[in-house]
Amino acid sequence: MPSLRFTILSATSLLLAIGTAALWHRCAAGPPFDFFITITPDTSYGLGTERRGIIGFLQLQRPSYRSGVPEDIQVVGAGFRYLRMTSDGMRRYNLVLPFWMLTIFWTAVPCLWLLRRLKARARRLKDRARKRNRLCVTCGYDLRASSLRCPECGAEIAKRPLPNERIN
Ligand SMILES: [Zn+2]
Repeated sequence: MPSLRFTILSATSLLLAIGTAALWHRCAAGPPFDFFITITPDTSYGLGTERRGIIGFLQLQRPSYRSGVPEDIQVVGAGFRYLRMTSDGMRRYNLVLPFWMLTIFWTAVPCLWLLRRLKARARRLKDRARKRNRLCVTCGYDLRASSLRCPECGAEIAKRPLPNERIN
């Protein structure tokens, strides 16, 4: 079974996935959100949404900034965007994380949790089936002629499950 901490982490992550998907749906149709924007004479930064993603931006005004130095960076693809643009007296950073990417990110942990749970269940069922058929739980050796320990791997032999023992 997945640990309690992993379960809580998965539940939180799932809520964030649902929240992101809801925000995605909302932004595809409605106007963008500005979560916060801070503007001072030489610095402004903020976090908001676009139609397809969440944007964080930072804009710095410094007299020393010169156009093209250092070289501008622009990485754009599949809704993702990272920009660093410098012009005379100003540098601007933009980071856009698309909703699809965030949703997949938040969904990964709950999927892992589910997978782990299913694996644990499959293992329990296999153990029960081996016990029922008088096979060693550890190695699968036929124990019908043995009583205390498995002659193959030395594992202790569990007593037979009662006929009405439930599998869950
Ligand atoms: Zn064995």
